[in-house]
Amino acid sequence: MKRSIQQLIRPNITKLNGYSSAREEYGSSYGDFLDANEFPDSGGYARYPDPYQQTLKAKISEINQVPAENILIGNGSDEVLDLLFRAFCEPGKDNVIVNVPTYGMYDVLACINDVAVKEVPLTPQFDLDVEGIVRQVDTRTKMVFVCSPNNPTGNLMSLEAIKKLLDQNVLVIVDEAYIQFNDALSLVKLIDSYENLLVCQTLSKIYGLADLRVGLLFGNVAIVQLLNKIKPPYNVSGIAQRTVVNRLDKIDVERRKSQIIELREWLREELLNLKQVETIYPSDANFLLVKFQDAHSVYKYLVSQGIIVRNRSKQPGCANCLRVTIGTEKQMSRLVETIKNMEYEESVIY
Ligand SMILES: *Cc1c(COP(=O)(O)O)cnc(C)c1O
Repeated sequence: MKRSIQQLIRPNITKLNGYSSAREEYGSSYGDFLDANEFPDSGGYARYPDPYQQTLKAKISEINQVPAENILIGNGSDEVLDLLFRAFCEPGKDNVIVNVPTYGMYDVLACINDVAVKEVPLTPQFDLDVEGIVRQVDTRTKMVFVCSPNNPTGNLMSLEAIKKLLDQNVLVIVDEAYIQFNDALSLVKLIDSYENLLVCQTLSKIYGLADLRVGLLFGNVAIVQLLNKIKPPYNVSGIAQRTVVNRLDKIDVERRKSQIIELREWLREELLNLKQVETIYPSDANFLLVKFQDAHSVYKYLVSQGIIVRNRSKQPGCANCLRVTIGTEKQMSRLVETIKNMEYEESVIY
């Protein structure tokens, strides 16, 4: 029997009324606000920010062609993901499914919330193993995390596979942190067709606003309202809200995308010429997952030269792999030259 969304929610959360501030009931220009014990300062930072980020949501709504009521804004995607655990997963009882290797925060948040994690390995091509996932779904499975494009492998997950998961009796969380770095369409367009689909995006990657901590969730109204009840009331600072509203229009996403892709493919060619490099996986994102003969020694050498990449060698299916972010042209050239130099130094020693 298929569970409704209501049946997936934790009972204590269903009962929750949530915090309400006077500022929600009266617009911020209504009159003299003596309700929140703020200091009567005129410096511009004395007032609590809009708890529902309405101006910011209007902007996001316009850009993504989604009604504002289907959008939740978090203090980074990490907060959005944490809210999902708190809304749906009963500590010590429920479980979630992650497709490994993938973004480490799903596991960390599950652990913090005392929620069991079932790991299903991606296929050798790093796509979803739908049958493997379906086999793991039980009556206490609340969410399946699908990162597409996946971090650290870089590839998009097949739409067909995601649709099969959406037919299961679980929430499917599609993390689209890197969706703007390829030509695939966001699954946001499917939120009206699947009430169990939640799509996360972020302003930390192509928008270049990681410091402001703004994460987005798109989903059906009932879930957005539920999450609004449990989020900290003032979870996104006024500085962040205003800065994003002022910046968003000026960011040329298409241009950034083509620049990053061009540099990524240049880096791929250059790295493939190096003896140390075994394979470079296809990427739909702003990074490359590179398999080396000896990732550990390359990693250590790069650190010694002041270049930090991400060592993913311990992740399932990623032995000897380093994940390299596409930075500036200068940084990419220096990276290639540094690995070449390492090869040269080794050839001199032996
Ligand atoms: C970088 C990243 C995020 C973004 O997290 P924020 O908290 O919004 O900065 C989310 N998911 C994945 C898979 C990422 O790699």
